[in-house]
Amino acid sequence: MIGVTVLGATGSIGVSTLDVLARHPERYRVVALTANTGVERLLEQCRVHRPRYAVLADEAAAARFSALAADAGLAVEVLSGNDGLVKVASLDEVGQVMAAIVGAAGLLPTLAAARAGKRVLLANKEALVMSGALFMEEVRAHGAELLPIDSEHNAIFQCMPGDFGRGLAQVGVSRILLTASGGPFRSTPLDQLTEVTPEQAVAHPNWSMGRKISVDSATMMNKGLEVIEACWLFGCSPDDVQVVVHPQSVIHSMVQYSDGSVLAELGNPDMRTPIAHALAWPERIASGVADLDLFALARFDFEAPDFERFPCLRLAYDAIRTGGTAPAILNAANEVAVAAFLDRRLGFTAIAEVIERTLTELDAADAVSLEVVLEADRRAREIAIGFVRK
Ligand code: NDP
Repeated sequence: MIGVTVLGATGSIGVSTLDVLARHPERYRVVALTANTGVERLLEQCRVHRPRYAVLADEAAAARFSALAADAGLAVEVLSGNDGLVKVASLDEVGQVMAAIVGAAGLLPTLAAARAGKRVLLANKEALVMSGALFMEEVRAHGAELLPIDSEHNAIFQCMPGDFGRGLAQVGVSRILLTASGGPFRSTPLDQLTEVTPEQAVAHPNWSMGRKISVDSATMMNKGLEVIEACWLFGCSPDDVQVVVHPQSVIHSMVQYSDGSVLAELGNPDMRTPIAHALAWPERIASGVADLDLFALARFDFEAPDFERFPCLRLAYDAIRTGGTAPAILNAANEVAVAAFLDRRLGFTAIAEVIERTLTELDAADAVSLEVVLEADRRAREIAIGFVRK
């Protein structure tokens, strides 16, 4: 039995993870579930999955949860705050940690799982974007296993040779082809983008996801964060990663080899596939995802990315090329701008403007320590909040 902690259990990835785990009770035991403020949802998950620990990052929510859990007669130890998250990411009885907290809030618990030498199932791409070099160093130093959950990176991982750590050129890989759906505004007239609403932005054509990543998909910042994530996971440069717009989202990404071969991973757009793959790797287990019907699908389309329509993608390529704390600044400004957009305090096209101005205002430093990264994150948020207010 493998003990599993699900960080961000109440979110979209968390719910899909619990669905897969519940299909294999002989193989996995849920040890800890975490949320921020989602008391009712976490309580229901605890009733079904009976974890030993429940963590709420928010202290008031934790107090409310404790009272409700006691009333319901649930035998669960309730923890709170960042210390609680770090603790359940590092427990001896846990072998695998699903890192599915959204945003920078996931960095410290995800790092804790790496430092404890766990198998880290990485959905929280923001952690790697912020602190790529430091994060990868912790993984190596503590013998952790890092398996990507992002469907694109999971696909790339499946198409890569096992020894890709030697360097892409050494193993005959010439390029990573990172697919992108193009989101809900792929063909919206450019002059209408200023007017789009949060409701339109979160209505992704193919994937059902949390609100923040849905907006990131609409601006294509999500793809930009994924380019950065791919550079760290696969030890390559941004020039090795070509974004390919593929509106059907059935090819989850591809790897091109020097002999002209292109390997692709395909499937229905359902996150339970990469989750099941990473949980069981190198074995395969059922995920509950329906078989792909190629006859119903009939065609695949491909387009080059449009950097004018999606300036966030260009900003992300620029940030990883600059290096140091630039990706952390990009990520922090993006989180502030997306939250303001969802709150109707900022227009859709102003998201990229806020990020670009923050990157111009705050110089990138060498990301020599976690403290430096967290300080860049803090300063970038302050500056971006100032631009949102103006
Ligand atoms: P959701 O918004 O659906 O869920 C986020 C989870 O994080 C919730 O459990 C939430 O708790 C918790 N959370 C939010 N803020 C905090 C905080 N400050 N401290 C602790 N916990 C917090 O997000 P998704 O599931 O969509 O995405 C999770 C991560 O996975 C993101 O990094 C995203 O980029 C990545 N990802 C998601 C994909 C998807 O299909 N959804 C695909 C690929 C990657 P609460 O419910 O209490 O708010």
